[in-house]
Amino acid sequence: MIRFIARHRHIINTVIIIIIIILFVYFAIKTKDIKAGTYNNKTYSGIAFGTAIKKTVFAEEDSVCDEIDDNIDKLLKSVDDELSYRLEDSELAIFNRSYAAGGIYSLSPDIMRYLQEEMEVYKETKGAFCPCILPLAKLWGIEDGSKEVPDKSAIDEVIKHIDADNIVITDEGLTLNDGSMAIDFGAVGKGIAADKVIEELSKSQAKGAVVSVGGTIATYGSKGADSMWHIGIQDPRAEDGQVFAVLDVKGGNVVSTSGDYEKYFEKDGKRYHHIFDPKTGYPVDNGLISVTIATDNGFLSDALSTACFVMGVDEGLQYAESKGVDAIFVTSDKKVYLTNGLKKRFQIKNKDYIIKKK
Ligand code: ADP
Ligand code: MG
Repeated sequence: MIRFIARHRHIINTVIIIIIIILFVYFAIKTKDIKAGTYNNKTYSGIAFGTAIKKTVFAEEDSVCDEIDDNIDKLLKSVDDELSYRLEDSELAIFNRSYAAGGIYSLSPDIMRYLQEEMEVYKETKGAFCPCILPLAKLWGIEDGSKEVPDKSAIDEVIKHIDADNIVITDEGLTLNDGSMAIDFGAVGKGIAADKVIEELSKSQAKGAVVSVGGTIATYGSKGADSMWHIGIQDPRAEDGQVFAVLDVKGGNVVSTSGDYEKYFEKDGKRYHHIFDPKTGYPVDNGLISVTIATDNGFLSDALSTACFVMGVDEGLQYAESKGVDAIFVTSDKKVYLTNGLKKRFQIKNKDYIIKKK
């Protein structure tokens, strides 16, 4: 044996050196991975729901990321087709055009379910959130690019028909007790899509993902060693993509923001935006410029971001607390109000904004 070792000393030395080099390289890569802490990932951009979509998918293989990206695109298209009132031949658009007051209609289970959920938010917010705001939104036409304030008489006429007490849902179906109404999911569509995206991801091989549908961001799993997602909150008074703060959430949470900066026009120095006070028929003018809600239910996060914007800081904060969601309210003088328990997971990046207590 000793003679064997002596004779093959050079070969053995070389083999040992090679093994050491391999082990060294292996551990170097491994340590780097742990430091970087992230799984393999791919980012995709596109358009759906009339807004920008961005997805970053974390999975072992690029091909798995691509497949998940494809599936989410198909899913978003099907949700938009089903729930959008914009498409002429969608179930909702046809219903809005052709229903008769007092008739009983059976719409798809999804539409019935989401309308029922909208009605709950309507009742809880004493009408601040309104599932039948569509005729008013159409009169203003802000989403279609209108830059004119409608006549007060036209607004008053339309808001006579903006009364969700006239929406009745029973086991038999849906009844609207006023012939000049229209229902829609404008304030919750992106949240519903976020819920479906998370469900799809949970059936996939993704380790983690973050998918933004306009101002609604769905998170899933994790991106690696760091178990939290650090979600940038849009600065309501800066360019698109600039954040004023970062909110940490666990995978499975949806972060929705409603603001007066998304769709608006200015006339005579006044800003007119796309979130309306159903009682006055005018864009909400209560000092808020953005509201962000984070919770593990996309529908709720989207509905409540709109609802709390309409309710204002005091009532909105109380409502958010009662629903157990995280909320961030921003006023035009750049004061920031948070629900209890959020402070540790919220960090201001733009020091013009100051956290205040109520
Ligand atoms: P975005 O769609 O820009 O993400 P929101 O989630 O806040 O913003 O939804 C705004 C949309 O909600 C409007 O375009 C309009 O269709 C609808 N909406 C406006 N005001 C109300 C309201 N008081 N209640 C329910 N929906 C509303
Ligand atoms: Mg909303």
